Amino acid sequence: MNLCDFAPEYIRAIQPYQPGKPISELVRDLGLDESNIIKLASNENPLGTSPLALEAMAHTLNEVARYPDGSGFELKAALAKRYAVSTEQIILGNGSNDVLDLAARVLLKPGASAVYSQYAFAIYPLLVQAIGAHGISVPAKDYGHDLTAMLDAITPETRIIFIASPNNPTGTLSNANDLLHFLEHISRDVLVVLDEAYNEYLPETNQSNSVAWLKQFPNLIITRTFSKAYGLAGVRVGYGLAHPEVANLMNRVRQPFNVCSIGLAGALAAMQDSEFIKRVYALNRAGMLQLKEGLRQLGIKYIPSYGNFICFRIAGDPSNAAKINQSLLQQGIIVRPLGAYELPQHLRVTIGLESENKKFLESLANAIGELA
Ligand SMILES: *Cc1c(COP(=O)(O)O)cnc(C)c1O
Repeated sequence: MNLCDFAPEYIRAIQPYQPGKPISELVRDLGLDESNIIKLASNENPLGTSPLALEAMAHTLNEVARYPDGSGFELKAALAKRYAVSTEQIILGNGSNDVLDLAARVLLKPGASAVYSQYAFAIYPLLVQAIGAHGISVPAKDYGHDLTAMLDAITPETRIIFIASPNNPTGTLSNANDLLHFLEHISRDVLVVLDEAYNEYLPETNQSNSVAWLKQFPNLIITRTFSKAYGLAGVRVGYGLAHPEVANLMNRVRQPFNVCSIGLAGALAAMQDSEFIKRVYALNRAGMLQLKEGLRQLGIKYIPSYGNFICFRIAGDPSNAAKINQSLLQQGIIVRPLGAYELPQHLRVTIGLESENKKFLESLANAIGELA
């Protein structure tokens, strides 16, 4: 069959995104009992979902014969109020991945380029490549974004620059002063995509006032998601906040019903449940300390993280990290290997419940014992 040969070379060259291993796959592959498996591989919320959101979504089941509100009127109104922006500045997405994709699709084309950091979220290069545009990966500094080098990497063809803060998988944060300085110096002809998927996990002292920057910088878009702290990864709701003209452009290529009715209802209700978000935040802080202390006791180096996950390094040959990963899987623990991120010695673990973190640390100690 030669039909596929007609697909552009840049499409055929795409290496598909590798998601965290689903629990069902481990059950099939290793014959483990599902109830004994702990998945800490996709930065999902160990507390599940806000009860208010669950209730709202259950109600919506009765209405799924109808198309969702394609304008997302209620959710946009709630977001507009929360962030003191106009509804014309909001783009809703089927997860924030969808919003990132829309940004790439409206501004990139073959011949154009996008800049991102080494070790940045793997979706960025994928989106750029899917359009046949040129991706410019800028070497990281201490595993984080080197904003100065990223500015220097911009060419006249560059239309988008992706910044994840905190970044996944490294957990690094770009501080607010540096970001502001960066925005002040970048050409207005380049869209700055500030991906704040983990914003809710930041302590107040580390929160930037990024939404206020929108007034000053028409070339800024902030993306956030209901997948992480809000515990709604399965229903796919994210959003972007941008200048009305940028939002308008993106809304033209958006599929008319890109956010499902269950997702819209869940996100709207989740926004009202500030108690839940407080619990999520507190659990994550405690779990972060627990994991850092556990890793330290095992003599394992990690990258200080501002997210709901932590990236740690297995010393020696990269095959050691693969062996540790395999041993963890056999013990029913799913973490994320980072070979696809040019970090073959590293594994990323999502912060779970206290009991899950404890089991992870015990299993990791076993795995290291097996290695010796
Ligand atoms: C998880 C994540 C997202 C969010 O993806 P959704 O499509 O909203 O589920 C976006 N950016 C980064 C850096 C992430 O880690």
